Amino acid sequence: MCSGCDRPGTTYDHLSPRRFEFVPLWGCMVVLLYHMRRVDCRTCGVRVEAVPWGVGKHQLTKAYMLFLAHWARKLSWQETARSFRSTWEKVCQSVEYVVQWGLEHRQLGPITAIGVDEIQYARGHKYLTLVYQIEQQCTRLLWIGRERTTESFAGFFTLIGKELAQNIEFVCSDMWQPYLAVIREQCSQAIHILDRFHIVAKLNAALDQVRATEARRLVRDGYEPILKKTRWCVLKRKANLTEHQRFRLRDLLRYNLQTVRAYLLKEDFQQLWEYQSPHWAGKFLDDWCAQVMRSRIEPMKKVARTLRSHRALLLNYFRAKKQLSSGVVEGLNNKAKLTMRKSFGFRTFRITEIALYHTLGRLPEPDVAHRFY
Ligand SMILES: [Zn+2]
Repeated sequence: MCSGCDRPGTTYDHLSPRRFEFVPLWGCMVVLLYHMRRVDCRTCGVRVEAVPWGVGKHQLTKAYMLFLAHWARKLSWQETARSFRSTWEKVCQSVEYVVQWGLEHRQLGPITAIGVDEIQYARGHKYLTLVYQIEQQCTRLLWIGRERTTESFAGFFTLIGKELAQNIEFVCSDMWQPYLAVIREQCSQAIHILDRFHIVAKLNAALDQVRATEARRLVRDGYEPILKKTRWCVLKRKANLTEHQRFRLRDLLRYNLQTVRAYLLKEDFQQLWEYQSPHWAGKFLDDWCAQVMRSRIEPMKKVARTLRSHRALLLNYFRAKKQLSSGVVEGLNNKAKLTMRKSFGFRTFRITEIALYHTLGRLPEPDVAHRFY
């Protein structure tokens, strides 16, 4: 068969033997040696033949690449290479092949709900824009864009095209301006929801800032360092505190500190999510913001101002509550972070992209005669 057009042709000649690595058996390397034929094709001229076990110039057989890629989802790429006496590069090639095949063969639509999120990668302030499908039946990573600009997010809409974009019913995002702008422009028909996870993260960041500033001030003014090592006591959810942390927190709450007041405001805010009706949630939100504005704690006031200016989007959360399971974006975000942490070899955008699609993309895989896992 001609590798150019997949049609049969007559043999032109044989090349010197080529090695194809197969799945190792009982820890022994398995290699297939084969004299590739060249085909005298009527349309393509003289071409190397196509073989069912291999792809292009790859040294590994398809079955072996699928095998390595499968394990690379569970182990780090380095561990995968070590376990099967291969190299990091070969594992990378395998994952790349599987991902590329998957991206070419995946079905994109229909899409009813998406979530957009940014994530830091490499070192320093480099960001990626990740777009997820977040329906109950299907949660997967759809798109990765460089940076977190209007252009990177707009790239997603170029990929899916107008028709799919117009059928999106829900969009979850954080309060990042460029994303908000793209959503307004590209799918104005969708209900736009500010994700709970991002709001809680903002509150926690403000609280952390208050705590750090106050801790420094106490030390500077010569007070007892009561705020030392309390970071997680105030940031963690109450249910997740250890015995010791719970004790520290109870102790801390006796003091009249900005940190304590900020903490109580944050805890109070959690009630918001219990509401069923957007109307009452809105009333609670207004009261809470008013209270914060009187608190004279600047970082918290900043959050309250942001929430006020996004009030309508925030209340959409309650309009869509029944259709969307909350915490999906958070879960995917954590998985993405884990994928990047597991992979100390990932420095470039390209590798990060492949790794993320591989673990979160739910991509289809090429068929092989035998599966070894
Ligand atoms: Zn041909």
